[in-house]
Amino acid sequence: MSGYNKPLPLITQLSKVFYDGCKANKLLYQVCADCGEIIFFPKQTCPNCMGHSLEWKESSGRGRIFTFTVTYDYAPPEFAADTPYALAIVVLEEGFRMTSNIVESDLDAIRCDMPVEVVFDPVTSDITLPKFRLVGRTE
Ligand SMILES: [Zn+2]
Repeated sequence: MSGYNKPLPLITQLSKVFYDGCKANKLLYQVCADCGEIIFFPKQTCPNCMGHSLEWKESSGRGRIFTFTVTYDYAPPEFAADTPYALAIVVLEEGFRMTSNIVESDLDAIRCDMPVEVVFDPVTSDITLPKFRLVGRTE
């Protein structure tokens, strides 16, 4: 897609694995083979045991809203046209947290602890961003 003028993630050798996963509609995270630590965002070294045996796994993409905010005004210029929009910290079933947008949902219905599922938004030909939508009952 052309015309996407918002900030894009910096793709590194390590984050490329994650973003290639997103392009394939897979939400990837790492697990330390030595101590079992669940790791996100991608790292070279386990923050728990300093081991280097990190393995990629695919998340179910299901989780719950840990906390969120809805921006109605005073958004950064690149996001002004998107208002209102919801930014949330989601806790995935596997136990890691990620910050993303809640989309395809009634923003007034969002509450903490609501179940969400990942959706993939191909914002450019190179970058697909993982976002989340409410599942089940909305108010
Ligand atoms: Zn470890």
